[in-house]
Amino acid sequence: TTGSLPDSSEVSARCFSSEPSLQADSTEENGFKGHGMLAPFTAGWQSTDLHPLVIERSEGSYVYDINGKKYIDALAGLWSTALGGNEPRLIKAATDQLSKLPFYHSFWNRTTKPSLDLANEILSMFTAREMGKVFFTNSGSEANDSQVKLVWYYNNALGRPDKKKFIARSKSYHGSTIISASLSGLPALHQKFDLPAPFVLHTDCPHYWRFHLPDETEEDFATRLATNLENLILKEGPETIAAFIAEPVMGAGGVIPPPKTYFQKIQAVLNKYDILLIADEVITAFGRLGTMFGCDMYNIKPDLVSIAKALSSAYMPIGAILVSPEVTDVIHSQSNKLGSFAHGFTYSGHPVSCAVAIEALKIYNERNITEHVQKIAPRFQEGIKAFSGSPIVGEVLLCLSFLFNVVIFPKNYMFISCLNTNLCFSMQIRGLGLILGTEFVDNKSPNDPFPAEWGVGSLFGAECEKRGMLIRVAGDNIMLSPPLIMSPDEVEEIVSKYGDALKATEERIAELK
Ligand code: PLP
Repeated sequence: TTGSLPDSSEVSARCFSSEPSLQADSTEENGFKGHGMLAPFTAGWQSTDLHPLVIERSEGSYVYDINGKKYIDALAGLWSTALGGNEPRLIKAATDQLSKLPFYHSFWNRTTKPSLDLANEILSMFTAREMGKVFFTNSGSEANDSQVKLVWYYNNALGRPDKKKFIARSKSYHGSTIISASLSGLPALHQKFDLPAPFVLHTDCPHYWRFHLPDETEEDFATRLATNLENLILKEGPETIAAFIAEPVMGAGGVIPPPKTYFQKIQAVLNKYDILLIADEVITAFGRLGTMFGCDMYNIKPDLVSIAKALSSAYMPIGAILVSPEVTDVIHSQSNKLGSFAHGFTYSGHPVSCAVAIEALKIYNERNITEHVQKIAPRFQEGIKAFSGSPIVGEVLLCLSFLFNVVIFPKNYMFISCLNTNLCFSMQIRGLGLILGTEFVDNKSPNDPFPAEWGVGSLFGAECEKRGMLIRVAGDNIMLSPPLIMSPDEVEEIVSKYGDALKATEERIAELK
């Protein structure tokens, strides 16, 4: 069922984040060819030529498609199934709760025990600073939408009706509802959707490799970004800026860890102008970086935090926001004045989702998930990063041609070697803990992308899929975020499949050139 590689037009048609599936023939046989689903983040959903990869079951770090083909799930679903595909304790927590109380809401001071217990457990686990309350949502997008409403409500309560703008960062991802897509700094989320909303401003992406100036250190780069942020605040008027939102490590934008001293410098600017800090920990919470939260890793002291995904290991939809005691106090007194905090969802604090999340958090604690990540992450990171130093196709050819030209055509070698530098490509591999991204660029320069129609990222994604490994592709960035429970052998499998897929991709690029 492996099929052949999609040609470049097929790849580009699938573009943004949908990896090309190699299941064309089999899905057609199974009646999935012209399916009726409007698929998220998938190009050309109206066409009858889509061949979705249909996943049927999961087990540990693996998923299986409808034809029984096994894949190592190197993205953990969508950066989310931290405990892998069939954790019996989560399944039992869900079924027990379903039998006892499948649903009750949390409106009007009625609620359920799982939601109360989960809120307390989250507050006790988040230790980067004291937090006051937890508000439940169904997703990360809803969490970030709720953050904006909460911050507006807060500033209205404080008599600051103009302090309403949000600053987010280029290349960030905060979700896909109107507000969370506006906060996101990825052009594809805005184009033709009439976004971002006017209250959102975007500041620099903290990607040192791509954006640093010649001879600028990471620390100097961080200082420059903090100064740019301050200048933006001053230009807009500090009295108009309500909050700054940031992922501790940017995820969907290409896995971009912050440069050294970044959060320290950014927080100093925010404090100076009384601007709230929202940490979007939807990917980083619960061990992904080797610390329980990203805030622990970077000494971030947020006013508000968004979580989702690993909160329930994605077995049930649930998100949440953590609210500082200071913000909580203001919201309390305002809602008492108004008679209600008129915000919430039917499924806020859904008892089955909460029961599963309580069990997931118990497992993270009992199994010392952060220690396990710290133990396996070095091999995961170093194993893959080793490929960035390996002789990739362009470099090998350049070397050979250099020798050949020097020996045979001494006078011409400069010219011919120059031509051959076009064969060079390189990649930046970045990450920490169990999150890693790779960016493919041409001519060893971050500013020299491959022609979009080649779909280099998608070629790599397709080669992984062919070899039984699922990853995320976004343009020429590819991303890995495997289950946290991976064994050392599974880490080796990912490293080895990555290496094989890379080699095949290099060969394809050489052909395309
Ligand atoms: N925030 C971050 C950092 C995310 O990575 C995501 C999803 O990937 C979201 C928010 C949105 O979460 P959801 O897809 O659950 O709405």
